[in-house]
Amino acid sequence: MNLNKYSRQIPLSFVGLTGQKRINETKIAIIGAGALAHSCSIYLAAGGVGEFTFFDQDIVEESNLSRQIFFSEQDIGKSKVKCLIKYLEKIHDKTKFNSIEKFFCKNDESLIPSDYHLIINASDNYLTRKSINLVSLKKNIPWLDMGILKMQGHFCIYNPGCGCYECLFQNIPESTRNCSFSGILSPVCGVIGSYGANEVLKYILNKNQNFINEYIQFDLDKNIFKKFFWKKNKNCILCQNIQSV
Ligand SMILES: [Zn+2]
Repeated sequence: MNLNKYSRQIPLSFVGLTGQKRINETKIAIIGAGALAHSCSIYLAAGGVGEFTFFDQDIVEESNLSRQIFFSEQDIGKSKVKCLIKYLEKIHDKTKFNSIEKFFCKNDESLIPSDYHLIINASDNYLTRKSINLVSLKKNIPWLDMGILKMQGHFCIYNPGCGCYECLFQNIPESTRNCSFSGILSPVCGVIGSYGANEVLKYILNKNQNFINEYIQFDLDKNIFKKFFWKKNKNCILCQNIQSV
């Protein structure tokens, strides 16, 4: 372990050498290589997470550059995952970064190695959230959901055994609401992605065990922060029927 690199984080009572080692051994899959993936992954990599696998099928477009802060004009037309990893590798060359250039689907559990510790949703659609939820239950791997729209954001960690996305959002209709249609103020992506990274590091370190089943909502227009507690739905079809592999 590079003690000097993490010398400002290790003194925290809930980190220490043991916690830092746990962070360094953590492997995370990130679904999406857009704005939330940028702000979330840079803090996780800086904090010491040892391995990442990014999933995204898109190429960089000019309209991405106002939010997806690690892409440049020279990246336009190139693979998002490849460009993001190229940027992250320049700063953290000891960290392992893998790329899978495809849209993440509900049958992609074999693409998430069994020794991975967490999946992060950095995409902006409900279909992908449902797919991650299924894979999370099948693989028995927790996942962090993040979302942004206009000046609002949210995040929540779903831990198999404690309930799932379906428990909370039963029968949610397919929605076409995303930033392409409704808009987003650039820094909102940075705020929510950073909060997500903070939540993941706390989760890795087993800090605040009781934050499980908390759903956090932000209104960054009025600066209102709300926290909801939710319970596992005893009648959830997915929690009842999905067997982990
Ligand atoms: Zn459920």
